[in-house]
Amino acid sequence: MQYKEYHGEQISSLGFGLMRLPVIDDDQSKIDIEKVREMVHYAVDNGVNYFDTAYVYHNGFSEKAIGQIMEEDHLRDKINIATKMFTFGANGPDFDPRKMLDEQLERLRTDHIDFYLLHGLRGELWKTLRDKWDIVKYMNDMKEQGVLRNIGFSFHDEYDSFKMILDEYDGCDFAQIQYNYVDHEIQAGNKGIAYAIEKNVPLVIMEPIKGGSLIFPDYPEIDAIKEKYGIGSMSNAELALDYVWDKKGILTVLSGMGNMDMLKGNVEYASRSSEGMITEDMEKAIAEIRTLLENTENIPCTGCRYCVDGCPQNIAIPSAFRFYNEGKKYRNPDSQKRMYNRTCANIADCVECGACSNICPQHLEIPELLKEVRAYLG
Ligand code: SF4
Ligand code: SF4
Repeated sequence: MQYKEYHGEQISSLGFGLMRLPVIDDDQSKIDIEKVREMVHYAVDNGVNYFDTAYVYHNGFSEKAIGQIMEEDHLRDKINIATKMFTFGANGPDFDPRKMLDEQLERLRTDHIDFYLLHGLRGELWKTLRDKWDIVKYMNDMKEQGVLRNIGFSFHDEYDSFKMILDEYDGCDFAQIQYNYVDHEIQAGNKGIAYAIEKNVPLVIMEPIKGGSLIFPDYPEIDAIKEKYGIGSMSNAELALDYVWDKKGILTVLSGMGNMDMLKGNVEYASRSSEGMITEDMEKAIAEIRTLLENTENIPCTGCRYCVDGCPQNIAIPSAFRFYNEGKKYRNPDSQKRMYNRTCANIADCVECGACSNICPQHLEIPELLKEVRAYLG
């Protein structure tokens, strides 16, 4: 394993994302604890010391599972536990950060959290937390009391909001952003990485393989590009991870590992990781892969949402098209099925009234296209 120096500590370059754990009966609340235990031991034995969960992962059972394993197997001192405050209720009257933190400590069976994040910040959510809940003071108070060792946030918005938060969040120790070789210019992106370096805030990277999309299980054209640049033997997952490890300012790279094979592969890739590791040929291959992906044909939905309010069946039409397009683009429908099933389960209820097509500025034959989406992802 390779490590990054962080305030005198060593943090593994691979972090274990605990949001896609093996489950029983396809039920996200029923974590297969023995499989997870085996994976956690393998990870710890091979030097992984950063584990990332959240209040909401697996409906709360992700925190419980890692808490149980840490306590029963005496692993607490070998693991930096990162977890996140569920911030999305900040507009409601029942939002109570301290109560939530106590619940998290109980689930994790510990008296402190090593890395604590405000979950999924966007500009507006940040302003609410800042103004209504005085969240910067709260986080720093908890840090002063020793309940939180490092405070930060995870982020899903545009660069300007990222900059605003970094500028306003006194005491912020680290931040977590989505970043990979396809999403390098969206959200915080390269500009965000540069600004975080300027502010001396190390970054944790999530979605380095874009939720599995960059694995390309069935994409001979991509295999050919890699062959052309002499990296044919490299897996697509490794290429994606190396792209992120290459960058400056990165503390650790998270991968949501759902099985032992994935974990073993990532541990091996991490053992050869280093800053500045991407070669010119790898850069060229990545550039060609990006171009290939950009030219994929898809459903030309712009996401304007004009169709949404008038649908008598409340079907999430733009989301359905987005999942379909992503699945087609990466030739990997499996990577979209979880979100599709969660958001578009009622797609079969379409009554073909045509209200959506009548209002769609792109003149899409929506009911017909929804049938295609269903056949592909359902
Ligand atoms: S055709 Fe189907 S998706 Fe479109 S508005 Fe009617 S019910 Fe909704
Ligand atoms: S109205 Fe058309 S373009 Fe707009 S979100 Fe709906 S399907 Fe997409």
